[in-house]
Amino acid sequence: MNFLKILARNLALGPSTDPFPFGETFTPKGLRGRVEFDAENCTACRYCEQVCIGGAIRFSKTPEGMRFLLWHNTCTFCGLCEFYCPTHAIHLTEDWHLAHGNEDKYAMVENGLLPTIVCTQCGAEAIAIAPNPTAFKEPATEGQKEQYRHLCARCRRKFLQGAL
Ligand code: SF4
Ligand code: SF4
Repeated sequence: MNFLKILARNLALGPSTDPFPFGETFTPKGLRGRVEFDAENCTACRYCEQVCIGGAIRFSKTPEGMRFLLWHNTCTFCGLCEFYCPTHAIHLTEDWHLAHGNEDKYAMVENGLLPTIVCTQCGAEAIAIAPNPTAFKEPATEGQKEQYRHLCARCRRKFLQGAL
């Protein structure tokens, strides 16, 4: 096919790309985009922090509890955090709208807090965490998960042994 035929065919077919950002485009299925964190389901195992290839995740202790911070500027979207998380508390979304000005880079963070609580059994100070599903012989009920979240580490062990 000579050049003119190719040109005529392509003109007849029309554009093969989307006019984004001046028009609509689509999101490919399975795209690895912005990471989301769900403190309610976090066990504080910190696997995600250890495996994060970009060093984007940091947990730190504060008077309010255990703070979670993820820098989207540093994230490589590798998906390791999601892969190793035992409860799907951290996962990649298909949201790729992460363009921002340089002055906004410190605002590109995902925040979370595992709050400091008082153990409902012994009154000790603790961090509210979700149970790791492997800790239960049978799948945990919502009531058991809620009870677990309000116990200190020592009482959690007793709870799992059926001693509470
Ligand atoms: S439960 Fe998931 S999000 Fe929470 S610390 Fe462990 S790996 Fe990270
Ligand atoms: S996707 Fe990869 S780089 Fe991004 S936060 Fe998760 S482990 Fe870190």
